[in-house]
Amino acid sequence: MNLEELVKNAGFRAGYLLPVPQYEEWTRRRASGAFAPQTSWIEGDAVAAYPWANGLLLLIWPYAPYAPDAGLSGYYPASHQSYQAMRALREALAAEGVRTERAAVPVKTILVDWGLGARLDNDLIFLPGLGTRFVIQALMVSLPDDKLKFTPQRAPFQACVHCGRCQNACPGGAISSRGYDWQRCLRAYEEGPDMPPWVMERMTTLLGCEVCQDACPLNHFIRPRPMTDEEKAAFDLERLLSGDLKPALSLIGKNMKKGGKLIAQAAVLAANQKRTDLLPLLEAQAQKADGPLKETLLWAITKLLQA
Ligand code: SF4
Ligand code: SF4
Repeated sequence: MNLEELVKNAGFRAGYLLPVPQYEEWTRRRASGAFAPQTSWIEGDAVAAYPWANGLLLLIWPYAPYAPDAGLSGYYPASHQSYQAMRALREALAAEGVRTERAAVPVKTILVDWGLGARLDNDLIFLPGLGTRFVIQALMVSLPDDKLKFTPQRAPFQACVHCGRCQNACPGGAISSRGYDWQRCLRAYEEGPDMPPWVMERMTTLLGCEVCQDACPLNHFIRPRPMTDEEKAAFDLERLLSGDLKPALSLIGKNMKKGGKLIAQAAVLAANQKRTDLLPLLEAQAQKADGPLKETLLWAITKLLQA
């Protein structure tokens, strides 16, 4: 078995094989509220969580963002593709008798500690040659001893030039001389249909904010790509608000439907783009919705009626 070859065949740019991580300090910091709630599923102590594993495989999947006027983050479509690639890789490893499991570990901290990446002022990780435009998939693995060749640790490096462009561009004020504050980052509130009004007011893209990444000179070598006709049709706001989510979900994964997240984001974007033509669809959605989704739809309707 050639692990490197299997990783490449699955479509990943790189696969870093690292020792099973243990991060007590990270776990303590999370308990003190240092990280966004989305980190709640992560295991700080992978030795205890995956006692059968002898390695962690970090898989890197680069992507190009969409052109800025697309109104769609490129991250989730890439994440879905990389998830499918990871499944194919797991099957290939299983055929070689290697046990694997999707790993919930603090990947950003691990990449920095292992000297493979550098943390930027916007709290994102920079990888040489890829900027911050990549998805990481993580697998715990149990490899035969003769295949357990860890990626060499490197000296941590500095990549951020502290130019302040991300700070000036950030719509939430999450980046300052005091560091990155997840409580002011739009991304931290876009996991469900209930977003605070200040977040909704500032949303310009579906599926996440990429403003600081667009502004960062460390990403400027990555050319944005136009949306394909299939992507344009799938993420058309009229289609999403009419409830036809299937084409979009086939590109980003079914669990993005959870709790009406996609409809909620489409509603907010419709309001921010002053799409008064979509009011009837928003009203129809609001009539059948309840809870936080209904609140978000009503916010969008009110904003459009005042436009
Ligand atoms: S925009 Fe400038 S300050 Fe912000 S992360 Fe990039 S290099 Fe660092
Ligand atoms: S993702 Fe958006 S809100 Fe969060 S730090 Fe970057 S620019 Fe600011």
